[in-house]
Amino acid sequence: MTLRPGRERSLVRRHPWVFSGAVQRVTGRPGSGATIRIESADGHFLGWGGYSPESQIVARVWTFDEDETVDEGFFTTRIAAAAARRTPLAVVTDACRLVFSESDGLPGLIADRYGATAVVELTTAGTEHWREAIGEALAALPGVESVYERSDVDSRKREGLPMRTGVLTGAEPPDEIVISEHGARYAVDVRLGHKTGFYLDQRDSRAAVQRLAGGRRVLNTFCYTGSFSVVAGLGGAAEVASVDSSGPALTLAAANLARNGLPPGELTEADVFSDLRRRRAAGERFGMIILDPPKLVARADRIDQATRAYKDLNLIACQLLEPGGLLVTFSCSGLLEEALFQKVVAGAALDARRDARIIGRLHQPADHPVHLAVPETAYLKGLICEVE
Ligand code: SAH
Repeated sequence: MTLRPGRERSLVRRHPWVFSGAVQRVTGRPGSGATIRIESADGHFLGWGGYSPESQIVARVWTFDEDETVDEGFFTTRIAAAAARRTPLAVVTDACRLVFSESDGLPGLIADRYGATAVVELTTAGTEHWREAIGEALAALPGVESVYERSDVDSRKREGLPMRTGVLTGAEPPDEIVISEHGARYAVDVRLGHKTGFYLDQRDSRAAVQRLAGGRRVLNTFCYTGSFSVVAGLGGAAEVASVDSSGPALTLAAANLARNGLPPGELTEADVFSDLRRRRAAGERFGMIILDPPKLVARADRIDQATRAYKDLNLIACQLLEPGGLLVTFSCSGLLEEALFQKVVAGAALDARRDARIIGRLHQPADHPVHLAVPETAYLKGLICEVE
């Protein structure tokens, strides 16, 4: 594949994506997922990449080293190196992300570990092509007994790939895998759970909530299976109320609370936007409110609409906080930059007429690293604000 003049710049800076508009010509007729040589207009080698003929991102670089061969051994080596980077986490948890796509030099590959089960998500034609090698490399990691595939994400459609879930290697995983993190225990359903089953990316945020919840009346919105409710309880919260629109998620939240010796607290199945309004009308007050909505910005042209939703949530939350209360607020939308998110929260506090200061910043943890050459790998940010 040869790029148009000047379009090699991002690859020279080690950003691995080739957009279709940058391509001058494709030589031969490579199949979907084939490894292709990517060259600048003047014929200089740029990288070996996986070909995605149907996608806007038509190739993703596996290696910038001309002498490196992309074969089964390449995946074994990269996956083992990614897993090795996570070994310090073993003292804290038996569940972590093993491979985070571009951040680990493996675009399109997500792999999470829950005890002896690795769950893999293949999002590109390139990873689809190397599916078996990837499965074997994951199965070869120490302690991994089975590899379960959750290639059921929407982005596969853009690659022209079908949805696929099921065992890739080894035995069927149990219906419920109980993981442990900082001494807390959570049940994970790798077949039906969100993402690969659990929000591993909120590990550091959970630790922060546990430190700060003591004595407070906590409202955990968008609670899913209740991980923040559990840590708030373990941290000595006076009361914990949990809200989600999903009934099954709330059932699992109750089970997770019980598993950790905690009372269920108030569990409310509702739309958070209207539930917050209802609580405001009822004059409720909280000492800590956690706002962890799903990704509200799916497309760049929807940022305005999404910032309005973030503002709405944060504004009502500020109004519901008692003096000295803590707002723990997140955005997992990669398209919404941290500085803009902070502005939105600032606007919400202002409109709520509450003086507020940031006392902590939260981000995705070490097993979801941000690659310096690929700023898009930073997506999760949170603010802990003390509201007067
Ligand atoms: N904080 C959770 C993860 C949140 S995921 C954790 O740490 O595990 C987002 C959750 O928001 C999902 O459980 C989804 O069911 C819920 N959700 C999405 N839109 C909602 C809405 N408008 N009202 C209530 N819940 C919603």
